[in-house]
Amino acid sequence: MDSKIIIAIDGHSSCGKGTLAKNLAKELDYLFIDSGAMYRAVTLYLINENIPLSEVSEDPALLGNIKIHFEFDPERYFFETFLNGENVEEQIRGMEVSRKVSPVSAIKEVRYFLVAQQQEIGKNRGVVMDGRDIGTVVFPDAELKIFMTASSGIRAKRRYEELKKKGVHVNYQEVLHNIRERDHIDSTRKESPLLKAKDAITLDNSSMTKMEQSRLALQWARGVIESLEPH
Ligand code: C5P
Repeated sequence: MDSKIIIAIDGHSSCGKGTLAKNLAKELDYLFIDSGAMYRAVTLYLINENIPLSEVSEDPALLGNIKIHFEFDPERYFFETFLNGENVEEQIRGMEVSRKVSPVSAIKEVRYFLVAQQQEIGKNRGVVMDGRDIGTVVFPDAELKIFMTASSGIRAKRRYEELKKKGVHVNYQEVLHNIRERDHIDSTRKESPLLKAKDAITLDNSSMTKMEQSRLALQWARGVIESLEPH
């Protein structure tokens, strides 16, 4: 039987981490978890309940009211995000949540709360998880770590096309500004900033197709799995 590994995918906003995670998980028959969806769900909760960010650090027990779970949709081959029993997959991708999620995820108490849940999900390995701190904080012992990046202009263009296809009204400049701002907050925050783990492989997909990047990462994953098999 194959040894199950953890694949940690970190990188900048909108550089296709989710697509890569999904393709790898499908090929390897692994779980895939979008840790950003968890930060987005917490953000949505705080917006809906009108809770100011300062209150979270003062009274972190309020986070106990937030129950996040994922349900697999085999048709889309996708794990949909649920917040307190409600499917919030659409809502968490909107611009309001995108605008507020980076300040929320810079709060230490929010990170402790979610990292513990992420580690629990990965305890049996066989998981591909994407985010900002997966290879550095959540699973520092992940067998394969990939650090993804692409130029901010290319990322904004891809994200803009994706939102337009979904019928969301946004303009390109707003998307670019949001991506640059999130890059800045995510990379400079005190708590678990976006960093490339020392043992991560960089994947710059600025001029790669989704198919090319998946093929390459799958080769890496199979190489690691094979190296762990008893000979
Ligand atoms: O991956 P996505 O862009 O959906 O993540 C939304 C935001 O959640 C990021 O901009 C970042 O602020 C935060 N995040 C994080 N740590 C993670 C995943 C996401 O801080 N592991």
